[in-house]
Amino acid sequence: MRFLCVCVLCGWSLFAAALDREAFTITKYDLEIRLEPEQQRLGARGKITLRNDSAEPQKVVALQISSSLNWRAIRAGGKTVQFVSQPYTSDIDHTGSLSEAIVTLPDAINPKDSVELEIGYEGVIPLDMTRLTRVGVPPEIARHTSWDHIGASFTAVRGAGYVAWYPIATASADFSEGNSLFEVVDRWKAREAESELKVQFTYVETRVDVLPSLLCGVEHGYRGRNVSSNVKAIRWESAMSCLWSPLGTVTPTFVIGRYVSPKQAQFGLHSFPGHEAGATTYSNAYDPATKFVTDWFGWYSGTVEVADFADPNSAPFESGTLLMASMAAEDSKLAGINLVHELVHSVLPSPRPWVYEGLAHFAEAMYRQQQGGRQAALDFLGLHRAAFLDSEKEVSAALQKNAVEKSVGQPLATTFDETYYRSKAAYVWWMLCDMVGDDALKQAIRKYRGTDDKDPKYVEGLIETAAKRDLGWFFDDWVYHDRGLPDLRVQSVHPWKGDNGVQMLTVTLENLGPAGAEVPFTIRCEGSDVTRRLEVRAKSTATTRVEVPCAPLEIVVNDGSVPESDLTNNSYKIAPQ
Ligand SMILES: [Zn+2]
Repeated sequence: MRFLCVCVLCGWSLFAAALDREAFTITKYDLEIRLEPEQQRLGARGKITLRNDSAEPQKVVALQISSSLNWRAIRAGGKTVQFVSQPYTSDIDHTGSLSEAIVTLPDAINPKDSVELEIGYEGVIPLDMTRLTRVGVPPEIARHTSWDHIGASFTAVRGAGYVAWYPIATASADFSEGNSLFEVVDRWKAREAESELKVQFTYVETRVDVLPSLLCGVEHGYRGRNVSSNVKAIRWESAMSCLWSPLGTVTPTFVIGRYVSPKQAQFGLHSFPGHEAGATTYSNAYDPATKFVTDWFGWYSGTVEVADFADPNSAPFESGTLLMASMAAEDSKLAGINLVHELVHSVLPSPRPWVYEGLAHFAEAMYRQQQGGRQAALDFLGLHRAAFLDSEKEVSAALQKNAVEKSVGQPLATTFDETYYRSKAAYVWWMLCDMVGDDALKQAIRKYRGTDDKDPKYVEGLIETAAKRDLGWFFDDWVYHDRGLPDLRVQSVHPWKGDNGVQMLTVTLENLGPAGAEVPFTIRCEGSDVTRRLEVRAKSTATTRVEVPCAPLEIVVNDGSVPESDLTNNSYKIAPQ
């Protein structure tokens, strides 16, 4: 018995060692997908190209699709190949499981070599909240975030990380294990960032009162061609081709709804009947948002789309320049900010997540500033701070203990972690703007071309040229490495009288943290305040003299524009003279 048991374990571990699920990257997809919304069905066939990105030759590939879909055929070089289909538990899919095909290739594929496979799979995509409800999320809450499904009246399906409607190849992801799910998804997105996904969708409808539209953010095709052979049973077929190339950080998503578009809309505005007021809010927000984005980011000539949800409580989601957001309510502030974000994506494509998403979030904050002032913008940015504060505190702590720098943190330049490339990046762009000024940053952004962004120092070069200032230290601490966050305080203040009895202060700021920053500090006095900025490098102090027009009471360092690990030590009371 013991012998048998040991052997079973040996066999299993040999198999596990042989199967490296993340060895292959799917570099190209060319799929034909037929949707039958009334049956919730999806049938796919096409070709995929897999590249061996591991260091070993590989003869076995693991291909995964949602567990509600089934593998039908896999062929290589025109010949059917052997594969074993098995369920594979993973929270990367909304069902909490994948249909995995373990494919034995005719020949081993050497590192860096590719193989093309013809594939076929089909099944249904119903609403499924399993991965959330099994970790205790109540179904009535889970359904607002886990909204993906194909349905007769409304279809919305997101890709990897939500529903594996196209094949992926990943290690198991677990929702209940801290960041494991996000790590697996981030790794997959980083591997597929340069890949191309092309899908020819066809869908057939029998109802013709309002023809449904298929949206994917990147669609081209026709809608509503009569394909019935019988006049009594009219069938309308629509075909739409979608091309995501390169994928970048975008999650390929398709939506089918019986949408109406307001006549006055100047962009892809798709709302449901009954949501006219919300749609008008978006429509009205378009002109000011476009004006703002054009001023900052250059001429806007692309397309953006905003699509309504059937369930008004659904959590919003963006896929490239397609935004899904409910128009059931009128919120003009939110509509403006959402449009600014998508317009920036449209104007400024970039292969670097921290540029692509970071600038879009930075633009939201700048737009907020234009409407409500600097404090409103900083409060808005403040909503992003919590997202990366804890992980950055860990980085700072590890660096304090002299841990090897490479083993901790997420350099902004290369990260695929959303909290970094969205939230931290928004702050980094904001700080750069504070340091070099609006005009220099606008000039740099307008020169930016995603296709030229090959060297990690490209962005730094553009801004330094425009600002005529060395920013190497800042990029080193915030972009090329993850050095954690600064921790700024007032170390000392010396009041003295200058010529003609002018009140002067010598202020020394200290940065206890491992990342440098140029920080604003405000001297509060009876009457008026004086704000200055000072560059304080990591683990250093910096001193400056300031002339103040009245008796100083207090100095407050950092107005919230520099993300810090500790905000409790930022004010300093000045003893009366
Ligand atoms: Zn975005």
